[in-house]
Amino acid sequence: MEAASILRVYIAFAAADLVWGLFLTFLNYRNVRRNADSVPEAFRESVTPEEHRKAAAYSLARMRLGFVSSPVMTLLTLAAVVAGFFGLVDAWLGGFVHREYLRGAAFLGAVGLLASLVSLPFSLYSTFVLEKRFGFNTTTLKTWAADALKGLALSIVIGLPLALLLFLFMDATGRLWWLWAFAALSLVNLGISIAYPLLIAPLFNKFSPLPEGSLAERIRELAGRLDFRMSGIFVMDGSKRSRHSNAYFTGLGRTKRVVLFDTLVAQMSEEEILAVLAHEIGHEKKRHVLKGMLLSLVLSFVGFWILSLLRYWAPLYPAFGFAGASKEALVFILMLASGPLTFFLAPAFSAWSRRHEYAADRFAAEAAGPEAMGSALLKLNRENASNLTPHPWYSFWYYSHPTLSERLAALASVGEVPVRRRGG
Ligand SMILES: [Zn+2]
Repeated sequence: MEAASILRVYIAFAAADLVWGLFLTFLNYRNVRRNADSVPEAFRESVTPEEHRKAAAYSLARMRLGFVSSPVMTLLTLAAVVAGFFGLVDAWLGGFVHREYLRGAAFLGAVGLLASLVSLPFSLYSTFVLEKRFGFNTTTLKTWAADALKGLALSIVIGLPLALLLFLFMDATGRLWWLWAFAALSLVNLGISIAYPLLIAPLFNKFSPLPEGSLAERIRELAGRLDFRMSGIFVMDGSKRSRHSNAYFTGLGRTKRVVLFDTLVAQMSEEEILAVLAHEIGHEKKRHVLKGMLLSLVLSFVGFWILSLLRYWAPLYPAFGFAGASKEALVFILMLASGPLTFFLAPAFSAWSRRHEYAADRFAAEAAGPEAMGSALLKLNRENASNLTPHPWYSFWYYSHPTLSERLAALASVGEVPVRRRGG
């Protein structure tokens, strides 16, 4: 295949990815707008017309932003590739960074930074206009800027050594360099997962131990009953940035801890919080976390193998605007093209994830009661203004979680679920 044909294939996939995404979003947009004024039958008792209208307006506003941001990002990327812009950046850096590895790392850093700069207006608009209009945003410009700077510092501290390590492996470990690089980077990744709750998350949020009292007691009782080991229960100041609420487990092995957003603690009853935690424990107990890690290992293994196959394929480099082969160009091309070339796999990953969600819901219903789980889901949905009426194709393609109606219906097969609203 010649360079021009490679470029055409890439453009075709990127265009298909964009057009298909816009089409599904358009279907979803029409569905949400049509249903904005009538609460679906199943939710008449639990969601008020005002809440429903607000949720619809919020979904529509997010989709309108997507209608602008995704074509802009795709078209800018394609234009830059076709114009040979990335090759120019690499050549320009080569003019003053003379060490090969450093130049490669500088190139990857520079294109990463450029991508963030281009998406900056959308990110600012999303946080300070859209989220604010719907009453979710609580971030100040100062917090936002501090986050951006810390993110940048972290990507230098972590990304630079990783890139240098990868380049070194590419040179020094012979024909099976990609296997060695895969093993080394997977180990580094594992280290980051273990260190994350202790070293990285505290840079962005405050984590305070959940005060002693009935909730802490009941969480420990639940964990004991389900034979789930953890190193602590923490409340995170999520309200510093947004009123959206959540709960999660983080860390591996001994560093594993429960994190509750302060917004969740404020919005939910103890029974509901226990049900949410039981759902998360369900993911652990059913080995979903382990399976997720194995899947990402497999994907990264395939990624490295593909890198090794493409490395000496000469026409690949000019296709993306580079004068010739280089390590940084190879890594960059894989990062750029892997999304568009695999976009059609999205529904498989979504379906896989939804199956895990059903299983975790069932686990929680058995451990904490279907009623508590159902009422927690209703409240999460209401507080986060989630869309009750997605288009079925859209949710099939993108949704990592089943829709609220699907989840409540599945819970109903375990036992009684609430239809009436309870509490605030
Ligand atoms: Zn889940």
